[in-house]
Amino acid sequence: LIDPRYIRDRIRTVPDWPQSGVQFRDITPLLQDPKTFRVLVDCFVHRYMDHDIDVVAGVDARGFILGAVIAYELNRGFVPVRKKGKLPFDTVAEEYELEYGSATVELHADAVKPGDRVLLIDDLVATGGTMIAAARLIQRLGAVVSEAAAIVDLPELGGSTLVREQGIPLFTLCHFA
Ligand code: IMP
Repeated sequence: LIDPRYIRDRIRTVPDWPQSGVQFRDITPLLQDPKTFRVLVDCFVHRYMDHDIDVVAGVDARGFILGAVIAYELNRGFVPVRKKGKLPFDTVAEEYELEYGSATVELHADAVKPGDRVLLIDDLVATGGTMIAAARLIQRLGAVVSEAAAIVDLPELGGSTLVREQGIPLFTLCHFA
């Protein structure tokens, strides 16, 4: 088992990005270093290799990087939850509130089947809006979110609590208070 500090210490904090007052947690250093990338992926693979999972869903865009590798290692398929207007086939869509305005995520209508157990992956949970909207897409297609998982939780923003209050099990590797 990996000490969460191993991951946490390799995340870069960029002050005042994308706007003043925001401390952006940049996970790209975890991907860039080959050893760290392997450790990161293995943390998730080891957790989920014994879980009953049919498909892995990754959230646009950093959830694609992680989700696709985890799916490959688990020998499962990968489906993308995308930002509005990117998916070419029939879709379901969920709109959710941002601090300023709203955003929409979409999933292909045939991406998951009723009863499928889905592992949902993103890089980070902040307000929880993205993860909850992605989970709703899966649930609207009759599938079950077996677990939602991310590298980072920002617990002070309350998102991880909200996700769990929706009945969605959530696993994160580390957090920034
Ligand atoms: P939420 O919907 O407020 O939970 O925001 C989470 C989404 O925004 C995820 O898809 C993240 O990729 C992105 N995000 C928000 N804040 C950060 C950050 O500090 N670092 C990396 N991604 C972030």
